[in-house]
Amino acid sequence: MADDTTVAVLGTGIMGSAMARNLLSAGMQVRVWNRSREKAEPLAQDGAEVADTPTDAARGADFLLTMLADADVIEEAAGDDVLSTLAEDGVWLQMSTVGESGSERLEEIAAENGVIYVDAPVLGTKQPAEQGQLVVLASGPEEVRERCQPVFDALGSKTVWLGEAGEGSRLKLVLNNWIVGLLGVLAETVAFARAMGVDPAKFLETIEGGPLGLPYAQLKGHMMIEEDFPTSFSARLARKDAGLVLDAAEARDLRMRISEAVAARFDEAIEAGHGEEDMAAVYRAAGMDLT
Ligand code: NAP
Repeated sequence: MADDTTVAVLGTGIMGSAMARNLLSAGMQVRVWNRSREKAEPLAQDGAEVADTPTDAARGADFLLTMLADADVIEEAAGDDVLSTLAEDGVWLQMSTVGESGSERLEEIAAENGVIYVDAPVLGTKQPAEQGQLVVLASGPEEVRERCQPVFDALGSKTVWLGEAGEGSRLKLVLNNWIVGLLGVLAETVAFARAMGVDPAKFLETIEGGPLGLPYAQLKGHMMIEEDFPTSFSARLARKDAGLVLDAAEARDLRMRISEAVAARFDEAIEAGHGEEDMAAVYRAAGMDLT
């Protein structure tokens, strides 16, 4: 169904390109911009307009949707000239993972430009993004929620509205600590099984279907066993998220030693050249200690 809503999507990486496609499938007008233009160009076949600059993408748009690596990149891409060119009542849907202080910083920039800011990071990775099955952790002014909902409905299976902008990013950090920590301990468990002469596949088979046998552990555990890490979420960005968690904890004088240790494992995997592989490649660091 055709729709007059125009959404400018900045960032067509793994997540942004899938999200842009779902907006197009929902009938919205979509303009995309990406630093490496070749990653945005395939979206033209789906009906997107590929813009040369973030400003060209944003001009007159009802929504600016950012799905870029981190807050610094977003600050650079979504500058004053971009925000001021949106439609008069334009809304910024900031859906990347930027942490607490990152979200506050971007909200300030939005306010300086008179743009309504909705902090809406997502739970879910490449496949849920492709299938429109993300969970949107939305937070922002009450008065724009109804307007935002069709966009979120095109991207996700569920929107959780959480209150004022910033609440979404806070919940996202909590979720990410759980996910990143799980990956770290899973990597060492697979390495430990191998060190013990226990087939790690038997470990996964044993927990499967029971309360300990998380589908996520099965998915990532098999990647670790096979040492094949096609990227749904890069180790580099997972390490960024671990850092955002630790920053937020430190700001509250909370020491999280397990999370620190897992972050250090990610550093080892990235230093060994595996940053662009899936986050399950944290196993490369745990596995290195086997030899
Ligand atoms: P990605 O595929 O690596 O895409 C990153 C995007 O940021 C690309 O558009 C990239 O442009 C751009 N970028 C990076 N550095 C830049 C710079 N210096 N200047 C301009 N653009 C730059 O990452 P992704 O997985 O889609 O993640 C995007 C955001 O979603 C991140 O905040 C991530 O934490 C979050 N997220 C990811 C997942 C997931 O499972 N993948 C899930 C939830 C949330 P180029 O193409 O030119 O490099």
